[in-house]
Amino acid sequence: MRIVVLAGGIGGARFLRGLQQASPDADITVIGNTGDDIHLFGLKVCPDLDTVMYTLGGGINEEQGWGRTDETFHLKEELAAYGVGPEWFGLGDRDFATHIVRTQMLGAGYPLSAVTEALCDRWKPGVRLIPMSDDRVETHVAVTLPDSGERKVIHFQEYWVRLRASLAAEAVVPVGAEQAKPAPGVLEAIAEADVILFPPSNPVVSIGTILAVPGIREAIADAGVPVVGLSPIVGDAPVRGMADKVLAAVGVESTAAAVAEHYGSGLLDGWLVDTVDASAVARVESAGIRCRAVPLMMSDLDAAARMAREALTLAEEVRGA
Ligand code: GDP
Ligand code: CA
Repeated sequence: MRIVVLAGGIGGARFLRGLQQASPDADITVIGNTGDDIHLFGLKVCPDLDTVMYTLGGGINEEQGWGRTDETFHLKEELAAYGVGPEWFGLGDRDFATHIVRTQMLGAGYPLSAVTEALCDRWKPGVRLIPMSDDRVETHVAVTLPDSGERKVIHFQEYWVRLRASLAAEAVVPVGAEQAKPAPGVLEAIAEADVILFPPSNPVVSIGTILAVPGIREAIADAGVPVVGLSPIVGDAPVRGMADKVLAAVGVESTAAAVAEHYGSGLLDGWLVDTVDASAVARVESAGIRCRAVPLMMSDLDAAARMAREALTLAEEVRGA
């Protein structure tokens, strides 16, 4: 079975690990979000691609959910001693190596998709990981600074990591997305998929950004195979992160049902909500999306695998309907 998964960082990566356990023989292609990418210290950092690669490759810091295991921060301390920041973005010594290799290869002319493949040669994530695009896309967030009242557009990482999403997100803009082309292999993988899954990733700044690359949304809608998503919103709040803030920016309430409606029946065939949101099932189904309530907390690998099985079961139900 060929499965295509659109993934952000932590939510996507943890789900993927469950999917691999649930479906060990599946041929899985992951289309990764690159809207979170940022240039720091002259290096190209791709947080979501790396979270997927490290998680599936066994190099992730499990408690944190991002960054390397067994990490040290000497390089960052030395940079800070020179007064060179930003100090708010956590880059460890081991992690730095990934960004140096990536930046060096990009400088030599390789596209990001080829670089990602080369990095995965080491990590062997067991999936084919493709960035959504080889073109530069950077998500920016419009905020009003409380002190000056000045309206400012800042990089998503500055909004999330430096400001901890403490201000309202007034708009979310995937800068460059309109001009971006899907990376080689993205549209082909979608066209050849048997099932397409949206893991519990951020619907705006992860999956929404991938869908903003012209051609990807259309390819999924036209693929003619079941498209099933899992809600990242449980009990009217994100399990972690700032999905509520960025959903508000696009006028969507933070409920499992509203996120399904936001994707819409033109894209989604099936939607899983958590058992605490069982009352949302009728609303989602009346929007033309088949819906089930099952436990959606990825407390451990087995729980994530059960969620993946439920998603595949729902996909088969949709296919048979
Ligand atoms: P990020 O790029 O690291 O923010 O990761 P993603 O976009 O892949 O995932 C973030 C989303 O995953 C957030 O909206 C969370 O609410 C959601 N999430 C994280 N852990 C869980 C979980 O155990 N269950 C569910 N249902 N959602 C989760
Ligand atoms: Ca992310």
